[in-house]
Amino acid sequence: MPSQSVLVIGGGLAGLASAVVLAEAGLEVRLLEKRPHLGGRATSYTLPDGSEVDNCQHVTLGCCTNLADFYRRVGAEGKVRFYDRLCFVDRHGRRSTMRASALPPPLHMAPSFLTFRALTLADKRSIARAMLTIARAGGAPADIEGISMLDWLHRMKQTPGAIERLWRVVLVSALNEELARMDARYGIEVFWKGFLANRTGYRLGIPSVPLGELYEGCRDGVIRRGGQVRLRSGVRGITVRENCFASALLEDGTEVAADACIAAVPHDALLGILPEEMAGSGGPLEGLRHLRTSPITGVHLWFDRTVMTDPFFALLDHTTQWVFNKSLLYAPREGGGAAVKPGTGASQAEGRDGQYLQLVISASYDLVPRSRQEIIDLCRRELAEILPATREAKLVKSTVIKEVNATFSPEPGVDRWRPNQETGVHNLFLAGDWTRTGWPATMEGAVRSGYLAAEAALAVMQPAAPRRKFLQPDLPFEGLSSWWAQRRE
Ligand SMILES: Cc1cc2nc3c(=O)[nH]c(=O)nc-3n(C[C@H](O)[C@H](O)[C@H](O)COP(=O)(O)OP(=O)(O)OC[C@H]3O[C@@H](n4cnc5c(N)ncnc54)[C@H](O)[C@@H]3O)c2cc1C
Repeated sequence: MPSQSVLVIGGGLAGLASAVVLAEAGLEVRLLEKRPHLGGRATSYTLPDGSEVDNCQHVTLGCCTNLADFYRRVGAEGKVRFYDRLCFVDRHGRRSTMRASALPPPLHMAPSFLTFRALTLADKRSIARAMLTIARAGGAPADIEGISMLDWLHRMKQTPGAIERLWRVVLVSALNEELARMDARYGIEVFWKGFLANRTGYRLGIPSVPLGELYEGCRDGVIRRGGQVRLRSGVRGITVRENCFASALLEDGTEVAADACIAAVPHDALLGILPEEMAGSGGPLEGLRHLRTSPITGVHLWFDRTVMTDPFFALLDHTTQWVFNKSLLYAPREGGGAAVKPGTGASQAEGRDGQYLQLVISASYDLVPRSRQEIIDLCRRELAEILPATREAKLVKSTVIKEVNATFSPEPGVDRWRPNQETGVHNLFLAGDWTRTGWPATMEGAVRSGYLAAEAALAVMQPAAPRRKFLQPDLPFEGLSSWWAQRRE
């Protein structure tokens, strides 16, 4: 029997995830990506001087089980290192560390919170109350439907210090939105899955190579099984006939047909390539027009000397939220491990003794209208307070990457605008972090959407075969959290 073919449009994580599992399932996969590289919004570029930079530092958490599964499938697992100490630095340079203790969840982080130097006793008491409310409800406290995280924190009588120095710091980075514009359900889930439900959910995974190198195994995984990965192949339109996907028209005028299609492009791009009866007013995907986006700014600084010894830390009370020491993160570990290829980001521009730092500012609305120079000056002033060595250091090179539409905004009630992976058109499916996954706009959400779309496509294409499952379970609940989670079910 000739193998069935599937067309995947978009080579971001959602498209790659569905392409890889469908190729493994024996389908002939053709992946079309508009840009000259894979990875979409989680990618790296080569600068004119030859050094490679990520569009922005990307991190994962221990609770992102589907992303971990994807990295395993494509052989990138060893290129992501996990860190179990999270360091926070306040305006006085005081450091606080979060790490799991031997206590059973949800108490395993309690000693870190108790010794968190940037929080007062009153802050800690209010945080303990709110955490207990989340844990005892198994991650789903009552009456949070449609309210913002800030409303819920006020309801939980959180002190201003607790809001600014804990909730805001963790959640604005995790969800790329301000607390007042963030659905409480998403904010609460971050703490439940990351910090309360089990011991390892909070561990921070950071690539030890430029992002583009994580996808090297994807192309191979598809091509080795008889498929194709075509770059610089933008799709201009999708044709649907008699409620079936018929073909995709490429920008170069060629037409590609397949037994099924997964459209894994950003939601605004999708509206531009779908037939009017699906995307237009009154169509089933009209709701996508209500999804708003929020910006992230990445600031890349190359110094002529060593200015930082930690691998990364979060900044409290500053515009800059996270500082990543790319030179150290890319450095080979003792006894082997991943290292950047010669000529990539860390090794080149800064010279032998220099250092490459990447700063991240999520929900960076205030920075969007500011000039690159203003942003660099602001970041340097803030770094000078925390890392005195930067005051004397020479800035060898710098770049600012503003991703104005970085992710969809997880506004209260946003899920009503997020469509399922099935479209109602028999063999046309959707994938993308913006589809309905229960997750916010993250790499994990993108991979989940890709796996769900692939499951749905196989169910339609091979109705007689047993249902395939690619979606991975969450980390198991542990300790008291497991008991509270069971009571919820
Ligand atoms: C600056 C920034 C920082 C982030 N930080 C993190 C982080 O630390 N951790 C985390 O988990 N997530 C982070 N995210 C979010 C994460 O990058 C996204 O959620 C995820 O990469 C989205 O993947 P996707 O496949 O859904 O979409 P995309 O990555 O947008 O992929 C869509 C692909 O479709 C292609 N395409 C578009 N139109 C066409 C067309 N007509 N024809 C063919 N191809 C087309 C695009 O070129 C793109 O490659 C960040 C995002 C940004 C922008």
